[in-house]
Amino acid sequence: MKDLTLAEKASLTSGSDTWHTTAVRDVVRALTLSDGPHGLRRQDESSGDALGLTRSVPATCFPPAVGLGSSWDPELARLVGATIAREARAQGVDVVLGPGVNIKRSPLCGRNFEYFSEDPRLAGVMGAALVDGIQSLGVGACVKHYAVNNQETDRMRISADVDERTLREIYLPAFEHIVREAAPYMVMCAYNKINGVYASQNRWLLTEVLREEWGFDGLVVSDWGAVADRVAALEAGLDLEMPPTGTDAEIADAVRDGRLPEEVLDRAVGRLLRLASRVPAAPATTGWDADAHHEVARQAARASAVLLKNDGDVLPIAPGRKVAVLGELARTPRYQGHGSSHVVPTRLDSAWESLAAALDGAVFAAGYRLDGQADPELEREAVEAAAGADVAVLFLGLPDSAESEGFDRTGIDLPGDQTTLLRRVAGTGVDVVVVLSNGGVVSVSGWQDAASAILEGWLLGQAGGSALADLLLGTHSPSGRLTETIPHRLADVPSHLHFPGGDGHVVYGEGRYVGYRHYDTLDVDVAYPFGHGLSYTTFAYSGLEARETGANEWQVEVTVTNTGSRFAHEVVQLYVAFDEERPTRPRHELRGFAKIGLEPGASERVSFTLTGRDLAWWSASRGGWRIDPGAFTVEVGASSRDIRQRLELSTPGDGWAPPLTAMSTLGEWLDHPVGSRVLKEAFGGSALDRFSPALMGLARGIPLAKFRTFGIGLSPEVVDRLVAAVDG
Ligand code: BGC
Repeated sequence: MKDLTLAEKASLTSGSDTWHTTAVRDVVRALTLSDGPHGLRRQDESSGDALGLTRSVPATCFPPAVGLGSSWDPELARLVGATIAREARAQGVDVVLGPGVNIKRSPLCGRNFEYFSEDPRLAGVMGAALVDGIQSLGVGACVKHYAVNNQETDRMRISADVDERTLREIYLPAFEHIVREAAPYMVMCAYNKINGVYASQNRWLLTEVLREEWGFDGLVVSDWGAVADRVAALEAGLDLEMPPTGTDAEIADAVRDGRLPEEVLDRAVGRLLRLASRVPAAPATTGWDADAHHEVARQAARASAVLLKNDGDVLPIAPGRKVAVLGELARTPRYQGHGSSHVVPTRLDSAWESLAAALDGAVFAAGYRLDGQADPELEREAVEAAAGADVAVLFLGLPDSAESEGFDRTGIDLPGDQTTLLRRVAGTGVDVVVVLSNGGVVSVSGWQDAASAILEGWLLGQAGGSALADLLLGTHSPSGRLTETIPHRLADVPSHLHFPGGDGHVVYGEGRYVGYRHYDTLDVDVAYPFGHGLSYTTFAYSGLEARETGANEWQVEVTVTNTGSRFAHEVVQLYVAFDEERPTRPRHELRGFAKIGLEPGASERVSFTLTGRDLAWWSASRGGWRIDPGAFTVEVGASSRDIRQRLELSTPGDGWAPPLTAMSTLGEWLDHPVGSRVLKEAFGGSALDRFSPALMGLARGIPLAKFRTFGIGLSPEVVDRLVAAVDG
């Protein structure tokens, strides 16, 4: 640092071009940054646009987070991360700009395909595993978009207005988990404002929470173009502006004229130097094994599809049945979304080709066009093909143009011509299997009765086509689970009335009640619940037990048995529930999960650690987490609505009681371990007992200092004495 001039230091706080940091003499080389979260989008040196409009160097396209997240398999995410890192090393990439771990607040967010879940624990665990995998080969990972970037509408200006408890319990924990568990080298701040302050210049977010509370020791980079005021951003804790805006001289001037303390600049430069020392000098490996990486992509895709329904065990397709494969999406796969995460794949499997290779006499008909233009002739051919078959495997989904980074969707329905085709195909009497391709959730409620089986294939990357064939044919059993609830209607979505806001603000009016936290608390009927997914076997749960292993710490165990006739994976889910008459917190929340593979008849004892944090809620008045004493229930099951075992436990709480003041209510005094004693002594014991229940109900809500208003003693001196006695 001491060898650097002021101008050189200023230059290190922005890039040299769209994808590189600045080099300074022999002090520090330029680092190469590249999207993206499910495969590299390394642009060649001549092209620099950040939205993926120009071509990038071919790389393996793994399932986007909507797919990979549905695997509920951190080991798999680690493998995918390490495989991306191998390609990064070969392509000279130092930092991969991913994963994206924003919460799916609304199914309409155009970028949901890049995010893992509506649940922060799941997003955090999967994100941490991906970071771990990427960094295992010395390549940096960059977690994004920090924070509260849950929509694309007006993303560069909008203020996400969220109360602190909701931030702490829903929108920050995935980042927190990753920072604490996987120590990413980089965090990317979001474009949007949070409660009126741009993320890029939000000191609370970038310094107090991220570094001082969570211990982040890496570098904070702006999202591409997210900096509004460079001096304010540096002061808040942003270290690197990308891409450069050519304003480095202003930074040096600000130091010279005293507007920016030099230590602030040095701090950012120090972090860039540390990043450079962490990533090994550029690689020059000769390449990678494209076939092997394609196999990893296929394995990941297989683990990610979710079998929503399977009436009459129509899947897997029994040998000898005549199959009609229908739908343009079977031949022209949709396997990733648009925008900065777009990968040019090394190859591309289509489901139709894979099925045709495995099934004698299978026929194909496109059925519809992907540009949405009605085509009665295509429809007629598909219905005819269905009529001549035993099973119609009908691929439906969202066309490429329906969802992307940069804009949100306006609805969750499938294109009308596709659902019309489904009804006509079903009308032939054939067994219908629907395979879906979509990044954001689509409604199944208007049409699902016409299908015997539905396989939700999300966007599964370049090997999605062959992976789906593996599942349809039964060489592997489906093992994906929903990371987001499928509602019946858009109007059921908790954020519906508040999304995407307007006039510069989006109010997070639903608070912590996102996804199943809303549906399950209010018992709203849904099409498929969070955590749901079938396989080709069945599982039984037994013997749930918990052992206390420390203060507010338990080891929870449950036995899971494969009661069916073939090998498959189960995703064992643990929720913590609080039974409250008037909910002050969600009915239950996911606190652990494990994916296990079991042979028929085999059992496994699955173990979870439950900690105080799993029971805690964020108290804004305390400025910290709180654990209330009392009973809670551990629930273990196969989805948020398929709880198989329950166990009631109790916690002594965290021992913390809020400080009492003259403005604390009678109820707060009586609920306080010391306050109640002091108060009862002052009242001479039995006075309060003479209150009728109704009077007590009323009086409990009155601050102590206000009792005088109602003519009941308690002079200010007495109240002060009581407060002092409690303090003592
Ligand atoms: C996106 C980021 C991406 C960056 C660079 C931005 O528009 O929001 O996710 O990493 O561009 O391509």
